[in-house]
Amino acid sequence: MPKYKRILLKLSGESLMGDKNFGMDSAVISQYAREIKSVTDLGVEVALVIGGGNIYRGMNEAETGIERAHGDYMGMLATVINGMALQAGLEKTGLFTRLQSAIKMEQIAEPYIRRRAIRHLEKGRVVIFGAGTGNPYFTTDTAGSLRAIEINADVILKGTRVDGVYTADPEKDPTATKYDEVTYQECLTKNLRIMDMTAFTLCMENNLPIIVFDMNQTGNLKKLVEGEKIGTLIH
Ligand code: UDP
Repeated sequence: MPKYKRILLKLSGESLMGDKNFGMDSAVISQYAREIKSVTDLGVEVALVIGGGNIYRGMNEAETGIERAHGDYMGMLATVINGMALQAGLEKTGLFTRLQSAIKMEQIAEPYIRRRAIRHLEKGRVVIFGAGTGNPYFTTDTAGSLRAIEINADVILKGTRVDGVYTADPEKDPTATKYDEVTYQECLTKNLRIMDMTAFTLCMENNLPIIVFDMNQTGNLKKLVEGEKIGTLIH
């Protein structure tokens, strides 16, 4: 029996790039699709939130010369492109999927409807939430936390390129050590950056556990839902 029945998996846009500098790598998408299939095969319900940083990040007003809110909407559209790419990859593995967008674009995605998303999950479909929260000044981490809470996910799994949360940045400080578990409160007092504050606060206030783990390690996702201690658990 898997430990988690319903999960929300948050992937950054950048993770889709693989070794590229921009856009997405089809090998990464098929690998992620296989990882996701391996847990739906266990009967786990999977919802996905994908970032857009590999295509566009709205926050760099100084760099782009584009007003923050305007750029943020562009960033949200980028997440829909990634969502469609993942959708195609997932369906190639034989999975059924639905893409729901927080910004209406009915020709390519359903509008986000909470109860409908839950129904899809119950039917074993992978639900991808695109366009973040639909609001500028938010991130896809916040979208992940929000949707996870809305659909009563057991946990939010934040797939990254590092294998968990460290006492300091391991790339800068060789003495940094990894936490297996850490409380929300400790994250605050020790100033550990797991997600942006809005996303983190949502999880903390609603007692939604977060697991930060290395999504690029084949088999990790399956081990996690089976209860193996991988990455860092924040609770
Ligand atoms: N974004 C937004 N509102 C949201 C989610 C995302 O405005 O609810 C915009 C924001 O500009 C952000 C971009 O979309 O920079 C891409 O999302 P994010 O940076 O979270 O992607 P990731 O870092 O996970 O690739």
